[in-house]
Parts: sequence; C-alpha cells; structure tokens
Amino acid sequence: MSIRSNIEKIKAELPASVELVAISKTKPAEDILEAKEAGQFHFGENKVQEMVEKQAKLPPTLFWHQVGTLQRNKVKYIAPFVHLIHSVENFKLLEEINRQAEKNQRQIGILLQMHIAREETKFGMNEEELFALLEDKALASLNNVMIHGLMGMATNTKDENLIAAEFRGLRALFDGCKKAFEGHPLMRFDTLSMGMSSDYPIAVKEGSTMVRVGSALFGDRH
Ligand SMILES: *Cc1c(COP(=O)(O)O)cnc(C)c1O
Repeated sequence: MSIRSNIEKIKAELPASVELVAISKTKPAEDILEAKEAGQFHFGENKVQEMVEKQAKLPPTLFWHQVGTLQRNKVKYIAPFVHLIHSVENFKLLEEINRQAEKNQRQIGILLQMHIAREETKFGMNEEELFALLEDKALASLNNVMIHGLMGMATNTKDENLIAAEFRGLRALFDGCKKAFEGHPLMRFDTLSMGMSSDYPIAVKEGSTMVRVGSALFGDRH
C-alpha cells in the first residue's frame, strides 16, 4: 500500500468534522511530501529537533503538531511555527509556551493532555489537576496561548470496551469544560484529540474531533 492510498482510505472513513494528523515521527521528509501530494497538510512529531529539521526543509504550507513530552527548555525552537501542542500537562509549561509565543508575536494553540489509560507510565493530568490549571488566576494574563481542548491516549489493550469507556469519559470531560468555560477569551474547547492507528475508529465513534495516525499511514516504525 502506498502512503497516498492509506491517506485516501482513512480520510474516506473519517467524518468531515474529524481532522487527520499524520504522525510522521522517524519517517523521512520524502514520506511527508508524498502525503502532502495526497492532500495531507497536518503532521505530528514527538521530538523537537526532528520537527525543526523537517519544518526547515519542507514547504511552509504545512501545519506542525507537537505530540508527546515537551521539555520546557525546548519550546523556543518550535515556537516560531508550531500549529498545535497536544501535550501540555502543567502550568509552568503553559507559561513558557506563552512567553515564547509572545516573543514571536503570535498565539500558539494548545491541548491539555489527560491521563485516561490504566498504565501508570502514560503522561497526563487527572481531573483535579486539570481544573486547578483552568481555574488558576494567573491564566488570565497568558494572552499568547489558546486552549483548544483536550488530548488523551487509551490503554494499549485488545479490550475494545475498555478503550471505548476511556474515550467516552474524556469526551464527557471535554463537554463539561466546554460548557463551564463558554466565552472565556483564552479557551475554545473545539478540539478533542483522541485515537491513533490501533484505536481511531473507536475514538471517532466516541466523539473525537482529531485523530493522530502514524503507522497506519506510513508503515511500521523501526
Ligand atoms: C506515535 C504517536 C501516535 C501515532 O501512533 P501510531 O500507533 O503509529 O498511529 C499518536 N499519538 C502520539 C502521542 C504518539 O506519540
């Protein structure tokens, strides 16, 4: 299967309201160009240096998404161009993104990453930490970030009921936030990033608005 046919197949399965982010980590720039030729413009990377290198040699019309752990001291490298950061899980990181966005005279979109899986190792906040962040008084001065929503990764399991339940819980939390913070100038709650190669059909059924698909588009990573 070619990258083009994989993209066409997955796009045909997704409702028009769900954005496909092609996770291109470890894959060469040529693969990204091939995807772009097939009409794919949103790409995700999990390593800052890799994203910066690819962004520099690819057309400026692409939209870059940061997924996975982001160290505070590396925000400055992606701040000039990054479209959406999916992995914010504390206020200090949000402040640094705001500071670097301000330096670049832009506003950077972010998602708050929630811990929804059974695995201990997965990154992300619990509900208490989420509301502490959203209700922090200091948030009001962060005019160079826009909170677009939430992101979460389900447990890596064959148990589809468990995966569905985790995604359903995240969707309910997202809807609750959307209602609670309606009209807030720095929050929009229009994006719920959930679903990857192994579970995106379940995520879409449970109300995802953005899926992050890597290996099903580009093939396995070595
Ligand atoms: C690698 C990665 C993906 C894509 O994983 P696939 O299983 O290859 O689709 C999605 N989200 C995050 C956060 C990732 O690190």
